[in-house]
Amino acid sequence: MATVDDERRELSGGWLAASGGIITAIGSSAETCPDGAMVLSAADCLVTPGLVNTHHHLFQNLTRAYGPMTSAPLFGWLQQLYPIWTDNLDEEAVHVAAWVGLAELALSGCTTSTDHHYLHPRSAGDLLAAEIAAATDLGLRFHPTYGSMSRSVKDGGLPPDAAVQDEDEILARSAEHVHRWHDPRPGAMTRIALAPCSPFTVTPDLMRRTAELAERLDVRLHTHLAESAEDDEFSVANLGLRPVDLYDDVGWLTDRSWAAHVVRPDPAEIVRLGRAGVGVAHCPSSNMILGSGLAPTVDLRAAGCPVGIGCDGSSSADSGSLWQEARLAMLQGKLRSGPAAMSARDCLDMATRGGAGCLGRDGELGRLAVGAVADIAVWRLDGPAFAGVVDDPVEGWLRCGPTSAWHTIVNGRPVVRDGRLVSPRLDEMLRRHRTIAARFQLH
Ligand SMILES: [Zn+2]
Repeated sequence: MATVDDERRELSGGWLAASGGIITAIGSSAETCPDGAMVLSAADCLVTPGLVNTHHHLFQNLTRAYGPMTSAPLFGWLQQLYPIWTDNLDEEAVHVAAWVGLAELALSGCTTSTDHHYLHPRSAGDLLAAEIAAATDLGLRFHPTYGSMSRSVKDGGLPPDAAVQDEDEILARSAEHVHRWHDPRPGAMTRIALAPCSPFTVTPDLMRRTAELAERLDVRLHTHLAESAEDDEFSVANLGLRPVDLYDDVGWLTDRSWAAHVVRPDPAEIVRLGRAGVGVAHCPSSNMILGSGLAPTVDLRAAGCPVGIGCDGSSSADSGSLWQEARLAMLQGKLRSGPAAMSARDCLDMATRGGAGCLGRDGELGRLAVGAVADIAVWRLDGPAFAGVVDDPVEGWLRCGPTSAWHTIVNGRPVVRDGRLVSPRLDEMLRRHRTIAARFQLH
């Protein structure tokens, strides 16, 4: 068991007990495990905290590996997809996409996920409610963000007019969603953050007003930051500032915020982000598929940023596996900063405690410790892929790969058990997803 607690304890043959969704005791093999109403075996397994996904656009699994989009960099890719998403998104599509995407995440050992839903076409309905219903049905801990876009092509932005909202409406809807869904209590299953999409889709004024609103409502802030060369160039050409300067200028350089990608900060900007405690959602697959670059994760962590892992939307990642993103984070860290710079333990740390830090829940999420929530991933370490792993099961876990979890437990309840989703609805939801995805892609 790799607890990822403050001492980073690793127990061989230990046990863990939970009650009411909270871990109540952890013991070694020499101690007796208390009786429980439900007992799950983790023999021949590695037990870790459940993984935390810090960035996603769940609806994008409806345009996954979509042929016309598979070779464009960020801006061209977005401009081709915006109209397809805008014309087709509705409550049913978002609910089914979220359900299937969260099921995929649970199977990869993820117990808490965010979602950055930034497209709210007129008359599409209440899309956040649709995805919260999916997370509740599956039993995942969920941090959806009320995302937004307000700057369309006619105002020098990237999205078409039909994809954006009025800024006063965005702020009113943001507050409404926080009041309706956000649970500030310890152990919360649902929390809301506010998430204007990016410098090329919203105005600096909306960023500023959103930061003020988040302060007033005491919720977190999320957006995309310094994602690619195009992103840098847009900010400098249209707003006269590099992305991190803009972030600072609009009041986001604070530990209330966490940002996705952060591929291109320069060394001085890394120091500023770290000093402010800005969280970073590292999305290695997406950064490679869109050719954006290798994020400086080793330097960001050293500077003091909580760095978590995100799988990003399934039209640019396209897999939604947190385990896979953690493995890629290890490979990219070694490639960029040297083989000793990023270990499997560093990546387990990012995928658990780093994610908890991004979500402002360090202490209760992302660790196996008495008093923390009972969010647990259990990984089988057997079969051909693990033959020869003797010395170090944690390195073996991320280098050799169980690729999916054997048990995924959220709030003390199994969501995945014996390698299968506990919900009996998977086949039905996959059928519905196929029909909806065909509508998106064949229109
Ligand atoms: Zn994104």
